[in-house]
Amino acid sequence: MSDWRAAMTDIAPGADRPLARPNVFEIDLAAVASCTRAIRDLIGPRVHFTATLKANAYGYGVLPVARTVLRASADALALANLEDAVALREAGIREPILVYAGVLPDTACAAALRDHDLTATLHSEESRRAHAALAGPPLKVAVKVDIGPERIGVPASTAAGFIQRVAGDPRFRLEAVNAHPNLPADADPEALAWQYRRFLHVRDAVARLGVNVPRWVLASSRVLRLTGTAMALNAVDPGDALFSPLHSADDTAPSPFHRLSSRLIQVRTVERDAYLADANFAMRPGMRVGIFPLGYSDGMRALHAGCVLVNGRRVPLAGPPALEYTRVDLTQAPGAMVGDEVVVVGAQGGERISPAEAVRHQGAARVADLAMQVGPGVVRRYLPDAAQAPD
Ligand SMILES: *Cc1c(COP(=O)(O)O)cnc(C)c1O
Repeated sequence: MSDWRAAMTDIAPGADRPLARPNVFEIDLAAVASCTRAIRDLIGPRVHFTATLKANAYGYGVLPVARTVLRASADALALANLEDAVALREAGIREPILVYAGVLPDTACAAALRDHDLTATLHSEESRRAHAALAGPPLKVAVKVDIGPERIGVPASTAAGFIQRVAGDPRFRLEAVNAHPNLPADADPEALAWQYRRFLHVRDAVARLGVNVPRWVLASSRVLRLTGTAMALNAVDPGDALFSPLHSADDTAPSPFHRLSSRLIQVRTVERDAYLADANFAMRPGMRVGIFPLGYSDGMRALHAGCVLVNGRRVPLAGPPALEYTRVDLTQAPGAMVGDEVVVVGAQGGERISPAEAVRHQGAARVADLAMQVGPGVVRRYLPDAAQAPD
């Protein structure tokens, strides 16, 4: 089952999974709605706002997140995965959806884009030709320009001519030109300004050719964080900022990564006293050990903060996660029993392991890097955005 199917099943009424392992990822859609509204407040009502939901909405589940951001004032969606885009249409999402480059440029994919009223990305001469080969009514398209990452896109040097050809081609309806600046965290801020100027040069050259392009899009999360609306032009396309506040929040700020939990399925006492130094955790005879069924096949290796909560206490992991299980040292929680809840991230009793703490422990860049690690076998539960009526 692919991620989006898992995500869609989880929000269907009565779609509990009684036979699943007791691993639950709770996602707070109110936090997504509040980040989305903060972006709208920043850009104002007239700037077009595409919410970018790559990678199964950065791990949070593409359909529930799509509904949330659209209700919270996003105008359109962008996805990298054509299957996800088709699934959103089949689930009844009517707003514009841009599909970034990702599939091989062939006519089957081009036809799927048009049949589902999706906007295709033209990012190279091959992709332009493959989409132009489609007979029938015009296909909605965006042109992706590469202004610096040297990744996907038409090189800035040849982009104006490419855009002119696409705009003049009756087989296409050009909606936008977009670019995605990409820089290492410690880059010279001038390097971003240079990428922006390259984008403006393309825009000016296109204007001199007399071609009208409805939207110019470059401001993703990093750009909005670093420069506010200075590079917002008439449209923005943030992804990460839908899930973590635009400006650094402390560990208590609500995060869509609300909680990740499991349950103890065995509690036991270490009885052996041989080869203690050769065990894969610091073992002592008489030590109480608990086991929960969340392992590195569920992403556990990249998700934990070195400890978990049991009976409202912090207890350390005992050794690294195995494929399907993780051990905890229950010395500090002597009353723990089979069935007791284990919180990997989130609150229990008066204690809390924040997502930011797990990010720091893992040396990860952001909370989304954690969310994307949670395996599809973990049950997703959505805390509804209380401000919004359910479907
Ligand atoms: C991923 C992506 C975005 C969103 O980027 P964030 O850094 O998550 O805001 C915007 N535009 C394009 C073309 C992208 O590929």
